[in-house]
Amino acid sequence: MGKDKSDRALGMDREISRRDFLNGVAIGVGASLLSGSLGAEQLLGAAIFDEPSPEKSPDYYPPAKMGMRGNHDGSFTMAHRMRDGESSDSLGAPKETGERYDLVVVGGGISGLAAAYRFRQKAGNRARILILDNHDDFGGHAKRNEFQVSGRLLLSNGGTQSIESPGKYSAGAKSLLKELGIDTRKFYRDYDRTLYSKLGTAAFYDKETFGEDRLVPGMNSMPWPEFLTKSPLPEGARKDIARVYTEKTDYLPGLSRQEKIAELKKISYAEYLTKYCKLTPDALPFFQTFTHDLYCVGIEAVPAYECYVAGDDYGSFTYAGFDGLGLSPRQKEEPYIFHFPDGNASIARLLVRSLIPRAIPGSTMEDVVTAKADYSQLDRLDNSVRVRLNSTVVNVKPAPSVSAPREVHVTYTRGGQPYLVKGNYCVLACYNVMIPYICPDLPDVQKEALSYLVKAPLVYTHVAIRNWTAFSKLGIHQIVAPGSYHTYTALDFPVSIGKYQFPSKPEDPAVLFMLRTPCQPGLPVRDQNRAGRVELLQTPFSQFERNIRDQLGRMLGGAGFDPAADIAGITVNRWAHGYSYTPFGLDTPQWKEGEQPWVLGRKRFGRIAVANSDAGASAYTDVAIDQAYRAIGDLLAPQKCLA
Ligand SMILES: Cc1cc2nc3c(=O)[nH]c(=O)nc-3n(C[C@H](O)[C@H](O)[C@H](O)COP(=O)(O)OP(=O)(O)OC[C@H]3O[C@@H](n4cnc5c(N)ncnc54)[C@H](O)[C@@H]3O)c2cc1C
Repeated sequence: MGKDKSDRALGMDREISRRDFLNGVAIGVGASLLSGSLGAEQLLGAAIFDEPSPEKSPDYYPPAKMGMRGNHDGSFTMAHRMRDGESSDSLGAPKETGERYDLVVVGGGISGLAAAYRFRQKAGNRARILILDNHDDFGGHAKRNEFQVSGRLLLSNGGTQSIESPGKYSAGAKSLLKELGIDTRKFYRDYDRTLYSKLGTAAFYDKETFGEDRLVPGMNSMPWPEFLTKSPLPEGARKDIARVYTEKTDYLPGLSRQEKIAELKKISYAEYLTKYCKLTPDALPFFQTFTHDLYCVGIEAVPAYECYVAGDDYGSFTYAGFDGLGLSPRQKEEPYIFHFPDGNASIARLLVRSLIPRAIPGSTMEDVVTAKADYSQLDRLDNSVRVRLNSTVVNVKPAPSVSAPREVHVTYTRGGQPYLVKGNYCVLACYNVMIPYICPDLPDVQKEALSYLVKAPLVYTHVAIRNWTAFSKLGIHQIVAPGSYHTYTALDFPVSIGKYQFPSKPEDPAVLFMLRTPCQPGLPVRDQNRAGRVELLQTPFSQFERNIRDQLGRMLGGAGFDPAADIAGITVNRWAHGYSYTPFGLDTPQWKEGEQPWVLGRKRFGRIAVANSDAGASAYTDVAIDQAYRAIGDLLAPQKCLA
């Protein structure tokens, strides 16, 4: 009874998210399955279109779905069956679609889309390309979340957040952005750097970790001793944290600059704080999750050097203990402002627009923000480039050399039915760790290398709220919550582009971003990632929803926020397979140059090449593009064009 009452107080009985979830997912797809239009394709007899096609239905619009998104239910069922030992043969003989492409791309993320773009640039506009993806939307991690609150469209990034440091992009990636019409200089105009200048950061201490719930504004702005006095931390911990933030001591005396850097690379930030800065271990919970955003594990697993380099991490997390080391000042990065309202989903959408113009109307980086994608155009028979969603590739192999020496056969499943398409070339722009299961003919060394590339799980939750007056009353725009379910909460990035206007008045409805990184401190990094993934896949949306409502109520209730009344929608972007494996950890083996698993794993195999940011071991958009361009180069380089 008591639980029911508190569920009601939190708004768990409110229709909002579940109603939209049902309308957007179950009912929407169910209805459209019945009404899938077959159109011209049926007349021309392409076998794939014998099946109903939910994407052709007018109500098929994944960006507006709420509930569990990211790696959404249904997207990974077939992949997990392959992982668990099923072979594609056990699915029965695939239906031949009768299609033959110049290039088949597995994976419709930025890398797969960029591979298609690059191939067309090299092979000409008449090149026929098929892009297959297991999700219900294109873009991979670069997904768009939409909300409608009080008649107003609110956008946010379901995954990939921003174009980070575009000045450092490779020539190829820079030129792709330019060709798509993106001029990053415009963000200096479009991103409002004044709106939050008077709003700061609060720390939220939760009672489960710190003994009582308390929200303390003034983090990173108030002098540390004063800010920490207001915390419920034990006095010793408070004083110690303040000391390490302020005393500017050289904690590595007697070492040269080079030796200091070498030492910081060898030890974790937690060890640096306790062993060298002599911070009491009681104070570690304050810092524990600072590294979650960038590394998906806590400070016990991240080298101190990484924290030194991260500096003040865009103003949210300031790493203590480095100011007195006498290392040269950190290089000032470009500001973190290159953000479309839907994040880098705009890049994915601009790529799709360039490949299939009628799928996304318009012609500029401004109008793409509010352009409504027409999913029915993605996979039409008269397109030279087709994007086929809800399709998991289960087998890729060179065709038997006698019958068709210049072909790759690609089998995918869609709605439980296996299909076979043929291509001259294939780019695997999917999660690299999946490749050994779908491409069993690869050499064992390559499969083993690919299996090493375990991705890091993380969750980008977005909560549509009816107004953000609680934040403005508290004088904050973000909350660092080291012990809570979501360890970071922030009002969305204040950027207005084209017709899209950021909700700049506190009375306006807005979107909150909340970050959760499931991990298991104490294990090696890749095992933490695996454990986190299991946790994510076992956590139902209802538990996320309850935790979100509970946490927002506890953090903001004092300023009048009522989770039952003020939450208008919830989208949990569950990235069970999130950031690419990156060799930052203390347990990273010392591979010889050229023998790193991502380098061995991306070797061309006949007419099959490997892309994805995994192939560059770095979770960034530019790496996804660079690897796509490299993969197409691998396939098309004259000496490599094997028969
Ligand atoms: C939450 C999050 C935030 C990020 N923020 C940033 C940021 O701010 N800036 C930045 O530069 N980078 C960021 N990144 C990293 C960036 O998103 C990636 O490096 C990049 O988008 C990866 O693109 P990709 O095409 O290589 O892979 P993905 O986006 O993962 O696309 C691969 C696609 O292949 C599909 N696939 C896998 N197996 C199969 C199969 N068997 N059949 C069919 N399809 C398959 C996958 O489901 C997926 O859709 C972020 C990543 C995450 C997860």
